[in-house]
Amino acid sequence: MTSPKICYVGVDLGGTSVRALAADSEHKILAVKKARTLRSGGPSRLIHRIAGLVEKTLQEAGVSRANVRAVSVGAPGPIDRVRGVIEEAPNLGWKRVPLRAELRQLLRVPVFVENDVNVGLMGEHALGAGRGSKNVVGIFVGTGIGGALIFDDELYEGSRGGAGEVGHTVLAVNGPLCGCGHRGCAEALASRTAMERDVRAAIKSGRKSNVLKIMNKKNKERMTSSIIVAALKKNDPVMREVMSRAQYYLGVLAANVVNLLDPECVVFGGGIAERMKDDFVGPIRETAYQYLLRRSDPKGVKIVPGQLGDNAGALGAIVLARRRLGV
Ligand SMILES: [Zn+2]
Repeated sequence: MTSPKICYVGVDLGGTSVRALAADSEHKILAVKKARTLRSGGPSRLIHRIAGLVEKTLQEAGVSRANVRAVSVGAPGPIDRVRGVIEEAPNLGWKRVPLRAELRQLLRVPVFVENDVNVGLMGEHALGAGRGSKNVVGIFVGTGIGGALIFDDELYEGSRGGAGEVGHTVLAVNGPLCGCGHRGCAEALASRTAMERDVRAAIKSGRKSNVLKIMNKKNKERMTSSIIVAALKKNDPVMREVMSRAQYYLGVLAANVVNLLDPECVVFGGGIAERMKDDFVGPIRETAYQYLLRRSDPKGVKIVPGQLGDNAGALGAIVLARRRLGV
């Protein structure tokens, strides 16, 4: 008989997939399982799927439910963290879904719910690129641009839970329209959605590019980060131009953030950063250093890609659960 292992399960609930990760009290990963996010059938069908995925992950890890201390979920959108309710997640088609109560009923273990960007940064801060830094800013570039802040080793959520929205920093007054209704936000200039809009516009105006061909070949309707990486590998001129413009804006954004908050470390996460690492963040850092006020000591702040890859959210959710439990 092996001695019972104490175990935590972190869940990263995204618009396309759900990832569950079981780890022991040293954060050693015991098992990881993935499933597609179901949008049809309403929230309860997806919540049942999440519970099933947690069960499968525990099975693979060889841990019985009695040894699970907590299941902790990073979910998109604003969250009422006191009640564990997802206020609004357009990616999932959810509105006011009591995720914690429903999962707790299915799994019968303590359940925590937190915003996905916050847990992503908590993971990088405790176990990845931000390790050893007390003040860390996370910038997550995907279909949108999310942000999170850690000051003095604690998540900073602001007076009304709205802190960290770096994606809606206006970088170009009267620039392109953002999903939030304003113009010229970082998200409207440098998110994956903005890059796709610019690539399509360039092709429409007659520029030569293989991006649409690559998308067709990979059977993708959207310009995912794997498409971006494939196009850059082929030296696609339009993709290169669009990417370096996005990197420029992200560099200006990072400099604004550093000038305002003076953190030790800025971590770039999300699919593109995970895949391209320093090929993505290097040029961002170069631009940021040019815009820093304290130019005498630009290297005093680290501007780096995340280290935990796809596992950042799930591991961060576990870090959060342990903090809340005080263990
Ligand atoms: Zn905006």
